[in-house]
Amino acid sequence: MQIEQIKEMAVSLLYPRRCPVCDRITTGGALIHEGCRKNIKIVRGSTCLKCGKPIKNEEAQYCSDCEKTRHYFDRGYSLFKYRSVSGSIYRFKYSGRQEYAAFYAEEMRRHLGDVIKRLGPDALIPVPMYRRKERIRGYNQAAVLAETMGKELGIPVDMQIIERCKNTVPMKILDEKGRKANLKKAFNIAQNEVKYNCIILIDDIYTTGATLDAVAKVFRDKGVKRIYFVTLAIGQVV
Ligand SMILES: [Zn+2]
Ligand SMILES: [Zn+2]
Repeated sequence: MQIEQIKEMAVSLLYPRRCPVCDRITTGGALIHEGCRKNIKIVRGSTCLKCGKPIKNEEAQYCSDCEKTRHYFDRGYSLFKYRSVSGSIYRFKYSGRQEYAAFYAEEMRRHLGDVIKRLGPDALIPVPMYRRKERIRGYNQAAVLAETMGKELGIPVDMQIIERCKNTVPMKILDEKGRKANLKKAFNIAQNEVKYNCIILIDDIYTTGATLDAVAKVFRDKGVKRIYFVTLAIGQVV
């Protein structure tokens, strides 16, 4: 037995893996209970050509939000419908369930792997967290997701290139104007030159896209030509 396998076994005995849907322990190293799979809804069918949100009107190319908003990213894709995984993502973020990333990344490869590879990204870049906040929480869930996805897809992950230099307040408590002000000068690229042509930003949830836009803008200003994003979940069009 390889030392890595022994380590993995020891970890699984100490910290049994939990199901990302019901949070109960799984057996034999399974990433999810087979019966729980049906509760998770993958984004399918007509989606906005810009933000990837499911749209009801099949004739439309863009969602109502993207019709009127100019985004700095080129296009984005999301894996799950938010409502079906909201509890899962909440625990992934706030209850230390970093192990869920293995399931999320495997589903990413299955459903979005071809799309992601076709884009030909130089790197996956997680949306950074304010350093002090990350220390308190213990990890940045977007970074955990990006790292696991990078391994699953064989794409480099760059966690150093961008930092969050302002402790922004949670976006959900702000209106549109507040969100913009909140994100002003919130991100900083830690190097003079960015060598990437194509990057994919990684985050957990897409709501209005304001955060991803703010990150995309700083990379755009540094001359990155193609900027995409992939998130774990996205809300429905209201
Ligand atoms: Zn389960
Ligand atoms: Zn859209």
